[in-house]
Amino acid sequence: MPADGLWRTPRRAVAERSARLDAMTADAPDDDRTSFADLGLRPELLRALSGLGYEEPTPIQREAIPPLTDGRDLLGQAATGTGKTAAFALPVLERMAEGGRTERAPMALVLVPTRELAVQVSEAVHRYGREIGARVLPIYGGQPIGRQLRVLEQGVDVVVATPGRAVDHLNRGTLKLEHLEVVVLDEADEMLDMGFAEDLDAILAEAPEQRQTVLFSATMPGRIDRLARQHLTDPVRITISREQPEPGEAPRVRQSAYVVPRAHKPAALGRVLDIEAPTAAIVFCRTRDEVDQLTETLNGRGYRAESLHGGISQEQRDRVMARLRNGTADLLVATDVAARGLDVEQLTHVVNYNVPSAPESYVHRIGRVGRAGREGVAITLAEPREHGMLKTIERVTKQRIQMEKVPTIADLRARRLELTRAALHESLLEDDLEGFRVVVETLADEFDVMEVALAAVKLAHEASGAAADEEEIPEVAPRGDRRPGTGEPRRERKPRRPTAGMTRLFVGAGRSAGIRPQDLVGAIAGEARLNGREIGAIEIADRFSLVEVPEGSAQQVITALRGATIKGRKVTIRREREELR
Ligand code: AMP
Repeated sequence: MPADGLWRTPRRAVAERSARLDAMTADAPDDDRTSFADLGLRPELLRALSGLGYEEPTPIQREAIPPLTDGRDLLGQAATGTGKTAAFALPVLERMAEGGRTERAPMALVLVPTRELAVQVSEAVHRYGREIGARVLPIYGGQPIGRQLRVLEQGVDVVVATPGRAVDHLNRGTLKLEHLEVVVLDEADEMLDMGFAEDLDAILAEAPEQRQTVLFSATMPGRIDRLARQHLTDPVRITISREQPEPGEAPRVRQSAYVVPRAHKPAALGRVLDIEAPTAAIVFCRTRDEVDQLTETLNGRGYRAESLHGGISQEQRDRVMARLRNGTADLLVATDVAARGLDVEQLTHVVNYNVPSAPESYVHRIGRVGRAGREGVAITLAEPREHGMLKTIERVTKQRIQMEKVPTIADLRARRLELTRAALHESLLEDDLEGFRVVVETLADEFDVMEVALAAVKLAHEASGAAADEEEIPEVAPRGDRRPGTGEPRRERKPRRPTAGMTRLFVGAGRSAGIRPQDLVGAIAGEARLNGREIGAIEIADRFSLVEVPEGSAQQVITALRGATIKGRKVTIRREREELR
């Protein structure tokens, strides 16, 4: 654990923090929120965080960083979206010697269940530790081992690995743990679910005894407790959903959520807002950059959106607030910090552009609407992998969040036509149409009055800014659906055996390509002339799908679908290989 180094400057940290609070606004009441500087992080890290637009620590970061920088072991219950990666990565980077390490063997090993997570976590560590010069390497199965060997040989500080590949390297002697100071088990429940228990034991047995061990898991079944008892020493325990909101604290608000792939979020939000037509809304984002980008996108879509974040001056902030209050702006795009203490009477909608990092934050945000008996609406956009956090929020708030489908282009058209109809209705009730009579009368000589009306409606509709048609947003099922009652993620790695008499086919497109069961049934029934009822169980994973068809028809289906397209793309189709089981 680091000595009480020179970079710990509590007085400066306090001064910076109070300057920041002063700069905030008359709307924001003083509070005792901890900033990153209060957590005693070194200046290089503070600069990195500020560069990424992080304005304040999330609850898990606030709770985990101090004990971790003190060298304690930690057992944390936290799901994706809580900011847990930075919670363990920052203390690891905090330990690194000024001017970089000279040892070639890593000082930290982060174990994660999947290659996606390995890449994601190592990118995050790299971003946070760029100024410190941290050398980070993801290692996972499926990637050519040569590059991994070269980089390990040159020297690394942090290795982020899937357990299987880490054991391979240990056995080859290419990953050395003698300088290891920290081991992190990230998403430990998933790792156990995927059958990595023995690998974890083997790795931890080789790690130096004097190391720090950190374990994060979304769920805390008995197996995790056993793992912790075996490998952690007197750990600090952290649960971010520990605090239950007071009864009545969570207001009565219509709450809905949309599961949307990241790339489609701006468009999806635009559509949801088009349908909801809020009088005034706050859209919460995670970072300053996200606020700025989304404001621009929404303005491009015809909204009057204003951004509010920690980098905005008091004067600008006052201007923005005035615009929202007098109705010249209808959307406020903000970070939590900037929106703290804001009280906007007219607010009808709160939008979480990402799932909030803790249930308390969700409750706090949606508490801004639905006051004094008025109707309020809370909308949350979640990426497929953030679905677990939505469930946690439902559990903690004891309120249901209705899962909705992103409006389709047809829904939007219908809604826009409805708005045009309403505008025309209003105009008909006003008594100032006489001046236009001559236009209708002259046209009526040549056309039917109904046709004249249709043309007028079309012009009015187009003039109202009804957007041109857009791309359809793929419908996705939330990833990691829960098995009923267990609160544990569904295993995608070990599908069941096929039903007797059926053969399972592998189709090389899945959820991320927008594939739904009905698309597969449609393609198979259409191309291979199979009756829909003959098709058996269908499983859709992120990147592929598995479909059961009668053994006798398997070849016919494969041949028929080879040249065909599903959702406009050509896909691979073959018998499922044994190794996928
Ligand atoms: P994680 O739960 O670690 O997967 O993090 C979820 C997302 O939150 C990532 O996109 C991070 O970049 C982002 N994030 C983490 N900490 C913060 C913070 N303090 N402020 C804003 N965004 C954050």
